[in-house]
Amino acid sequence: MRGLYIHIPFCNSLCPYCNFYSEKNADDSIKEKYIDALTAEISSLDNKQFDTIYIGGGTPSSLHYRLLGKLIDNIIKFINYKGVEWTIEANPESTNNDFLSLIKSSPVSRVSLGVQSFDDNVLKLLGRLHNAAKAEQAAENILSAGKQLNMDMIYDIPYTDNQKSILTLNKIISIHPHHISAYSYDSADTLYLKDGVNDDETLFEEVEQICFENGYYKYETSNFSLPDMHSRHNCLYWQGEEYTGVGAAAHSMILLEENKRKRYNHGTSIEEYIKNPYNTCNQEIISKDDALLEDIIFGLRMKNGINLYNLEKKFGKINKSLLNKIDINIKNGLLKKEGIWLKATQKGSLVLESLSCSLLP
Ligand code: SF4
Repeated sequence: MRGLYIHIPFCNSLCPYCNFYSEKNADDSIKEKYIDALTAEISSLDNKQFDTIYIGGGTPSSLHYRLLGKLIDNIIKFINYKGVEWTIEANPESTNNDFLSLIKSSPVSRVSLGVQSFDDNVLKLLGRLHNAAKAEQAAENILSAGKQLNMDMIYDIPYTDNQKSILTLNKIISIHPHHISAYSYDSADTLYLKDGVNDDETLFEEVEQICFENGYYKYETSNFSLPDMHSRHNCLYWQGEEYTGVGAAAHSMILLEENKRKRYNHGTSIEEYIKNPYNTCNQEIISKDDALLEDIIFGLRMKNGINLYNLEKKFGKINKSLLNKIDINIKNGLLKKEGIWLKATQKGSLVLESLSCSLLP
C-alpha cells in the first residue's frame, strides 16, 4: 500500500488549539502559485502509483473552486486515481454550492468534515467559523452528493460540560456518516488548559460505547466506522506503509531495503515551497530495530493490535529487552496477547502514550 498526501496550508481563520501548518489571509495569487508548485512536484514524482490520495490541511475547501478544480484536474492528469480511496478535508462554512458540484463531478470518494461540535457556544470557544446548523446542512449535502462522509468531533473540551460532547456525538450518529473521528481536546495554548481540563477517561469509554451501540466499529484509538468504511489512508500511517507528502510541511516515509526506512519533509514555508517544490529537509534513516519499534507503537493504536506472526516474519525475532518490556506491560494489565495478536487492553488504551514510552530503549 502507498499513500499520497497533499497539504493545503490555507485556512479562513486559525483555531487556537491547532498544530497543523496553515496560514490565513493568503491572497489568491499566492494560492495559484502554490497550486502550480504542487502540480510541479506531483508531476515529478518517480512512482505515481498510489492506493490512497488525501488532500488535507489547512482547509482544502477554503480554496476558490477554480483553484481546487485545477488541483483535482492535475492530480487526475498525473496520478492513476482509478479505484483509489480519495479523501478531501472540508470545513462546513466553505462547503458552498461550487465546492459541492465540483466534488460531486470529481473522482473524490470521501469528504472529511471538520464539525467538532453541534453546540454553537462550544464552536465559538474553539474559534470555529461555522455554527451547528451550517455543519448539519454541509453533512447532508455531502451525503446527497453521493460521497462517503467522515465527521470530526472533539470531546473533553476545557470549560465545557461533557454532556455537550455526548449530544454532539448523538447528533452525528443521527446524520449517519460512514465514519466518525472523535478526538480528545489537546492544546498547546496554556490559556485554554489553565484550570478547565476534564478527566476524559469516562468520557472516552462513553464515546466508544455509544459508537459501538450504533454500529460504528472502533478500529483505532480515535476512529470509528461502519463496516469496511475505515480510512485506508490513515491506516497506512499506523501500519508502517509508505507515504509521499507533497506541499509545504508535508512528511514522507519511504521503505528501504533490509526493512530500513527513510523519512523527510518539506519546510514550513509557503513562500519557500513555491520557490522550490523539490526541496526537502530533515532526512533521517530509520534502522530496522527502530522500524520494528515504530510498527509496535503505531500498531497499538489499532483495535486489532499487532499481528506478531507478520511482524516477526518481516523483522525477525523481537529482541529480549523489548520482549521483557512487553511482558511487564502484560503483567500490569496494559497489554494482552490473543493468539498471534498483541493489543492494548482497555486500561492500556487510556494511557497509550505512557505505554508506548515504556517500550522505548
Ligand atoms: S480550520 Fe482546521 S486546519 Fe485550520 S486552524 Fe482550524 S483546526 Fe487547524
